[in-house]
Amino acid sequence: YAEAMESPIQRHLDDLLQDVSRITDGRPYSVHPPGRDPDPDAFGICLATVDGHVYTAGAAADTEFSIHSISKPFSYALALADHGLDAVDEKVDLEPSGDPFNEISLSPDSGRPANAMINAGALAVVAMLKGGGGKSAPRRIVDFYSRLAGRRLSVDQSVYDVEIRNSDRNHALAYLLSSFGIIDDDPTRALKNYLRQCSMQVTCRDLAVMAATLSTGGTNPVTGEDVIDIESVERVLSVMMTSGMYDDAGSWASSVGMPAKSGVGGGTLAVLPGQAGLAVYSPPLDRHGSSVRGVETCRRLSRDMEMHFVRAA
Ligand code: GLN
Repeated sequence: YAEAMESPIQRHLDDLLQDVSRITDGRPYSVHPPGRDPDPDAFGICLATVDGHVYTAGAAADTEFSIHSISKPFSYALALADHGLDAVDEKVDLEPSGDPFNEISLSPDSGRPANAMINAGALAVVAMLKGGGGKSAPRRIVDFYSRLAGRRLSVDQSVYDVEIRNSDRNHALAYLLSSFGIIDDDPTRALKNYLRQCSMQVTCRDLAVMAATLSTGGTNPVTGEDVIDIESVERVLSVMMTSGMYDDAGSWASSVGMPAKSGVGGGTLAVLPGQAGLAVYSPPLDRHGSSVRGVETCRRLSRDMEMHFVRAA
């Protein structure tokens, strides 16, 4: 621990946190249980390396928040493992949409969503996740994410309750997907399971370990457990690279250059394949629904530590 405190990486993260703390732009996501307004000053950064070192900075590095859209790549990985790439591709395409997260981005003839990172694609993916081995689908999702994080995670029921009450657009998307046959069973089941997975509580540390599990090619670097196969990891990271940051994907690819995913809960996750996973928590969001400080932290770290794919090579 003392060694970690003195390491150049630790010092760098501490300094960066201080610097980026000065940014006060953006507004937190407005949907949350009564009395649970997100703290706009909460800030945490976590870097997990492929050899299992975990560095954290900020008082909120171990604060729990809702994973929201950062769940999408992980449920995509589970669907790929369950059904194989081809079967999943029949339901969800892998093209960048460059659209906002809740865009109705379906192919006009087939109804296939553009990719698994936007809500339409995520709903189609969740619909493919069925129960099995004596476990319900939601249970399988929680168990899978827990193995990725190396810690028992759980869904916050009160977050889920407010999400479901504010789900008209996702509801509409689920029914539209059903009308095209992309969702082949009850669309409200997919909607509920999607919102349950969005309501999963994670910390910055959890997300960094989940990201690092993608960096290693599927082995959790802290627990040593093999969680995802390499084909699925490759696919997930590719789609994150082109579509993880929605309509900000091009600017992100240029200024950060890492596959990444943001969530309206204030989390940002980025992956440096073969090296490290990075996560930031800060609730105020930009117009794309990504954390303002999260994006800035990733930009600066990418530059300072040469994490952009062009430099990291
Ligand atoms: N639960 C949110 C939704 O589906 C997640 C969106 C997000 O994080 N971008 O609308």
